[in-house]
Amino acid sequence: MRITLLGTGDAFSTGGRFHTCILCKTNETRFLIDCGASAITAIQQRGIDTNAIGTVLLSHLHGDHFGGLPYFLLDGQFDRRRTAPLVIAGPPGTRSRIAAMMDALYPGIWERAWRYPIEVVELAPREPWRFGDAAVTPYLVEHDSGAPCFALRVACGATGANWRRSGCSSCISARWCCRTPTRCRSSPRRTA
Ligand SMILES: [Zn+2]
Repeated sequence: MRITLLGTGDAFSTGGRFHTCILCKTNETRFLIDCGASAITAIQQRGIDTNAIGTVLLSHLHGDHFGGLPYFLLDGQFDRRRTAPLVIAGPPGTRSRIAAMMDALYPGIWERAWRYPIEVVELAPREPWRFGDAAVTPYLVEHDSGAPCFALRVACGATGANWRRSGCSSCISARWCCRTPTRCRSSPRRTA
């Protein structure tokens, strides 16, 4: 699996970094882990073809992790004229939160006909969900976003190579993002 860190910033884009967005490529699929508010800028700067991204995984429903979805979706609708299906997979509540966000930013557009199929999958804790030659297993973490928050374990292929990312890793400072700072799992962990 090839991993490109498009955005690793916190909620305030400290140091000029983009909000959380990680591009993963396997033999069979390309997908994002999180799509923070400034993700589309990072994607455009790198010249990445959004039409080739089939899945967006969401760790949790804070703006710096999923607030870039409207622009990602509109890019496919109006700029790149996407036809390929897109799957958005996130915690329980993802469907209604996306609808509310879209309605706040671009009223009525979520309910219109999109030129490409959009499917929203709500993941269950500890239940692997497979897509292409990859799979994601979500684990509940302590974080307050108005919905369950996940650390995502992403695995690919027979080698079992995987990447784990904490749901609160690049959100905001520990005193804000966790009820108990000592429980903040703020460092992404990579395992072979
Ligand atoms: Zn957060």
